Amino acid sequence: MVYETMSPKETFALGEKMGQKALPGQIICLNGDLGVGKTVFTQGFAKGLGIEEPVNSPTFTMIQVYEEGRIPLYHFDVYRIGEPEELYEIGYEDYFFGEGVCLIEWSNLIEEMIPSDRILVTIEKELEKGLDYRRVIVEEA
Ligand code: ADP
Ligand code: MG
Repeated sequence: MVYETMSPKETFALGEKMGQKALPGQIICLNGDLGVGKTVFTQGFAKGLGIEEPVNSPTFTMIQVYEEGRIPLYHFDVYRIGEPEELYEIGYEDYFFGEGVCLIEWSNLIEEMIPSDRILVTIEKELEKGLDYRRVIVEEA
């Protein structure tokens, strides 16, 4: 599926819809350049799960867990990872194979660690269409 959004609000709303439908054990990979809207999408997704507390990119901790929603949200941002094996240090298996849903910003950096059964969300800009235009491509494995 390909969606087009014209504002952060619309990307948030798209994330919110996916969050409402999210299931335990799902792994959602979020890719796209810095500033494209991965965290905005995640904030909507969290809202869709019923999470009220503020959600930001866990750039330095790599993982942030939110328990207050319908199911747990495991929000990864692996932008600063050196090598995929560093995931073992944060006990990633508990999350990838846990009770909640994983949302992984920059999953392309840990490609070999991701189970093949995942949902791929890629966000792209296209400057000719305006600064706030985003194409959001959702591919189910
Ligand atoms: P990322 O996590 O991909 O690095 P962020 O979500 O932190 O990016 O930031 C996206 C930025 O782009 C925000 O400042 C947001 O206001 C802006 N923006 C402009 N248009 C859009 C849009 N259509 N969708 C999402 N964000 C947008
Ligand atoms: Mg981010």
